[in-house]
Amino acid sequence: MPNDAAAGAKRDDLERYRQASRSLEVTQNEIEELEHSAAFEVFQKQLGLLRKRLLNSPQSLRQVFIDDGTQAIVWEFKQNELGGNFTKTLWNLLLRDDDMSTILLRFIWNIPLKFKRKFIAAIDAHLSDRYPMFKGLSLGWPAQKSIPPYIRPPEERAKDFALVNQGYLGYMSLGYSAREVDLLVWLEVLRDKQCEDRPCEIGVPVEGNAENKGGCPVKIHIPEMLELLGTGRFKQALELIEGCNPLPNVTGRVCPQEMQCQGVCTLTGKPIEIGQIEWFLPERERLANPNGSAERWKSYVSPWAKADKPPIAVVGSGPAGLINAYLLAAEGYPVTIFEAFHELGGVLRYGIPEFRLPNSLIDDVVGKITLLGGKFVTNFVVGKTATIENLKKAGFWKIFVGTGAGLPRFMNIPGEHLLGVMSANEFLTRVNLMQARLDEFETPLPEVAGKQVIVIGGGNTAMDAARTAKRLGGIVTIVYRRTKAEMPVRVEELHHALEEGIELKVLRGPREFVSEKSHAVCHTILDVMELGPPDASRRRAPVVTGKTETMPVDLVIMALGNTSNPIIKDSVPDLRTTKWGTIDVKAGSQQTSVDGVYSGGDATRGGSTAIRAAGDGQAAAREIVGDIPFNAAEIKDLVARAARYTDQGQARQTILKKTDLTTGIVEFTVNSPLVAKAAQAGQFVRVLAEPKGEAILHLPTLNIGARAVGGGYFDPEQNLPNCGDGRSPHLSLGVSTAAACSSRRFSRSSASLAASSGNTSASTRTQISAAIVRNPRASSRVRLLTVRRTRSP
Ligand code: FAD
Repeated sequence: MPNDAAAGAKRDDLERYRQASRSLEVTQNEIEELEHSAAFEVFQKQLGLLRKRLLNSPQSLRQVFIDDGTQAIVWEFKQNELGGNFTKTLWNLLLRDDDMSTILLRFIWNIPLKFKRKFIAAIDAHLSDRYPMFKGLSLGWPAQKSIPPYIRPPEERAKDFALVNQGYLGYMSLGYSAREVDLLVWLEVLRDKQCEDRPCEIGVPVEGNAENKGGCPVKIHIPEMLELLGTGRFKQALELIEGCNPLPNVTGRVCPQEMQCQGVCTLTGKPIEIGQIEWFLPERERLANPNGSAERWKSYVSPWAKADKPPIAVVGSGPAGLINAYLLAAEGYPVTIFEAFHELGGVLRYGIPEFRLPNSLIDDVVGKITLLGGKFVTNFVVGKTATIENLKKAGFWKIFVGTGAGLPRFMNIPGEHLLGVMSANEFLTRVNLMQARLDEFETPLPEVAGKQVIVIGGGNTAMDAARTAKRLGGIVTIVYRRTKAEMPVRVEELHHALEEGIELKVLRGPREFVSEKSHAVCHTILDVMELGPPDASRRRAPVVTGKTETMPVDLVIMALGNTSNPIIKDSVPDLRTTKWGTIDVKAGSQQTSVDGVYSGGDATRGGSTAIRAAGDGQAAAREIVGDIPFNAAEIKDLVARAARYTDQGQARQTILKKTDLTTGIVEFTVNSPLVAKAAQAGQFVRVLAEPKGEAILHLPTLNIGARAVGGGYFDPEQNLPNCGDGRSPHLSLGVSTAAACSSRRFSRSSASLAASSGNTSASTRTQISAAIVRNPRASSRVRLLTVRRTRSP
């Protein structure tokens, strides 16, 4: 190009640029002007309103989509099937976790079932390469097919104690994102029909029965929860559940849903996985916001500090006690939980193994109660360390007794006394609470690896014992006197046990256990049974046929159910109990025969379920918060006294003095104010090696437990105390908590120790001394023999 022409072109460009800039400036000025006009403001407001409306009211969104008929999505949904590209795009939009994805979630939740089916067919056809769990989902959806939670493969899980059912979040271990997991749960919820009569929540009436069949014992508003999830409101769904159940992460895992909410679901083929969803929500929140609870309650003023409501004592820290304490503390009542064991949680901790229910979840609940101001006193046996009356005198206005049913049943057949025959409670407590499987703990346990183990029974306890023995290397058979159909176990647990390689011998019941030498069981004679007409349990009764079978066996675990703990009953003369020994409560109430004392859970029902226990704890909390008959000054006084008592119970039990009396006999002086108040001279108390229990690792303190009868051991060579008698450490007590009475042989010996109690002296003294003598059976060990009082320094 010649130079002149090139210069002309540059000038033109420059002129066009100037013009464009001028018009841009004019336009910008105009925009700015218009942005401040009233019309624009109205438009902005309308836009905001529309956005809000679309998010909050998906129905209106649906109208927009459907009425206009202009949107691509609606057009696609009106076709015979959704195309591959559209489905993938739609899924990717759903994955974005933004306003648009929420709008789409709500749109799909609200479309008629036939369109939902189309969507499921599309993800089955186009996304199952990426999501194998979608394969075949559309055949029989929504009634027959669902997306199951992630369960670890049997061959892998049967060797360890890690969680078996990993729930929906378990899919993250396969590489799926948290949002993808949200969508899997949402797809499960999409099957919901929002039934008007809400059977999952309130159950279905049964003629002649006061209680409905099924439903939720803690009355979670299940249809609303599902609606919130269907419309993408995960956090609100959790808040809704937690409003009535502070333990969803626990109950969702162990509740027998097939008998409760899911058992009456109108999707009879595959009920909605309500239990899995129930525990998915708190677990999701924990992952997303580990400090959520602390933040939520950071400005909560402790009811002990406010002191405007009278204090409540809760006895027992199982699900009944925990939910009761949580709800009362949240209502502003100062609450103290008194627990016999050194750890909290009741059966949830000492019975149900970690592969089913991680202990961290119980700690989580305890943490929440603590954030609400709730206090805990462990190693405190109400009825021994102090009575219900003592608690009232200490300032507690009302008392909830949730002491469970910890006394295992036996069969009373020949050979039950042999070595190698034990209750499931004892077996499980040794493994779960006392960590017998870990080398650093000295808890003794019969050898299980490579041994023939039989578990007698067909309930959850039998399954837990069998699966635990399997994990310890045993060759395990469950022996049950009826058939599989009559087993009271949760269906899921039986299924998992069989998958893990546990044998099941039905229509068999032990008639005798036999030992050839050494007092250890070596085989059992089993009665062969058949089914007769139904019995009181409405299940067909097992009838002896007269035929027998012999089976070799090294370890027998009896899981025949539990009865009530008699300690409370024995210490409260006015407390009415039933013929089964359970605490009697008034019809339709949790109130016992003793004024101001309430009860619930296994203590009133006998062996029942965690969710029923939680339901009772909840019902009792509602009754407890009645009219308060005190003025402000009286309340303050009660709170101050109960706080003082609680502090004494929580006092760290330190060794103040240690005196070598003579060879093998050592005397300790231990600070333990409440035990000192209760203990009788010459009486036995439990000695724990360290505050948490049986770990023989170091000796920061000698923890004198509150059980007023029992034995303890001390290893003078290592200068470390041990617990129990080598056969039954820490269980060597005359009390009837689950573990305590699980070894009947030992209960008998501790009963005689209890009889050696001497006189009591002044109750103002706050120290006890313990004299230790050499154990005649193991030369390296010494036994705590006497308890003598000394005056406070
Ligand atoms: P518990 O959980 O028994 O708690 C009572 C607490 O009170 C204990 O901590 C005990 O130490 C304490 N205590 C007792 N006496 C005193 C006292 N005098 N002073 C102070 N504290 C005291 N249910 C299900 O729903 N699903 C399951 O899968 C399931 N599996 C089970 C597995 C096993 C091995 C067992 C044994 C039970 C199982 N159950 C199951 C039953 C369920 O755990 C119980 O129904 C439930 O725990 C009862 O709760 P609770 O609060 O009434 O009593």
